[in-house]
Amino acid sequence: MSIPFVDFRPQYDEVKSEVDAGVKKVFETGNFILGQEEKDFEVSFAKYCDAQYGIGVNSGTDALHLALRALDIGPGDEVIVPTFTFIASALAISYTGATPVFADIEEGTYAIDTKTLESRITEKTKAIMPVHLYGQPANLNEVLAVAKKHNLKIVEDCAQAHGALYENKKVGSFGDIGCFSFYPTKGLGAFGDGGFISTNDKDLYDKVLMLRDYGRKGRYEHIIKGYNSRLDTVQAVVLEAKLKHFDKWNKMRNEAAAYYDTFLSQIDGVQAPVIRENRTHTFQTFAIRVRNRDVVCEQMQKKGIGVLIHYPIPIHLQEAYSELKYKKGDLPASEKIADEILSLPMFPHIKKEQIDLVCATLKELLANG
Ligand SMILES: *Cc1c(COP(=O)(O)O)cnc(C)c1O
Repeated sequence: MSIPFVDFRPQYDEVKSEVDAGVKKVFETGNFILGQEEKDFEVSFAKYCDAQYGIGVNSGTDALHLALRALDIGPGDEVIVPTFTFIASALAISYTGATPVFADIEEGTYAIDTKTLESRITEKTKAIMPVHLYGQPANLNEVLAVAKKHNLKIVEDCAQAHGALYENKKVGSFGDIGCFSFYPTKGLGAFGDGGFISTNDKDLYDKVLMLRDYGRKGRYEHIIKGYNSRLDTVQAVVLEAKLKHFDKWNKMRNEAAAYYDTFLSQIDGVQAPVIRENRTHTFQTFAIRVRNRDVVCEQMQKKGIGVLIHYPIPIHLQEAYSELKYKKGDLPASEKIADEILSLPMFPHIKKEQIDLVCATLKELLANG
């Protein structure tokens, strides 16, 4: 038996009738771009995020880019971002002409380390981008306190944490702007690319509305140099249907994670995910730490177990950012975790037998290695 890293099919089966009918309607009416369904979804998902305003965009990367642009971040500015995240977090900063300043992470949540965060601030710093990695919120109280003290903006990268709670409030409602991705493998995934911006600030909302639509106000007037970055109506139909099941699916992920834990706690050399107080984890990614990670990863794949590494190379050591001249040892916690982290199969409908086999295979490999 082989086990996929993610299986989308059971989710489609649950929403099939609503999606098929909704998509057919869009095909028939021809409202492909910014149709009513897209606007309705903006209202639904903003509400879901405890935010006043929501805007659908092309991707999570675009959400981050437009958020930074809306905050007037550009050349000469610096934005602090954890180095242990998907590279899009940093790329979005680079697109504006600003410079990403990489921060280290803490070992429990793998989110930005608030103890060393202040040491990364310079007179050029304009914003902090906490990333809620794998589905668990970053230490938002601490990040908010540092931002307030130094008068910095906060752009939350919620691409992996739709619906996660910090002190009973949804991520995406803490910073100036929250940014989400609907890439298929994300917690809430479209049938293609998609992204979202949440905010409680009307001015930022109005600005992002222009930025995503060629900088226009009305049909013919272009106020700023904007972009073409909208959420397709068809994707909004898919997302609206999935949103109705989403809390249930997050609960299923949590049940699967708990089931994983009962086995993993018995395996020597494995560190299971840790959930901090006052937070919920959506387990978009179920990442453990193991010794001999590269060997374990390769062997698991050979045995048909879909494992992946998020992420083996911290961004400060990626060739794309070589011009910033970071070197090995600069951000030690991130570098250590990057060597040990391993993502196991995780999706709402994963079966107990599948988890049994993943854990048995892992145990056997670790016993022999
Ligand atoms: C996926 C992801 C993004 C980018 O989202 P896309 O929709 O793929 O552009 C940004 N940040 C993080 C943390 C992500 O996981």
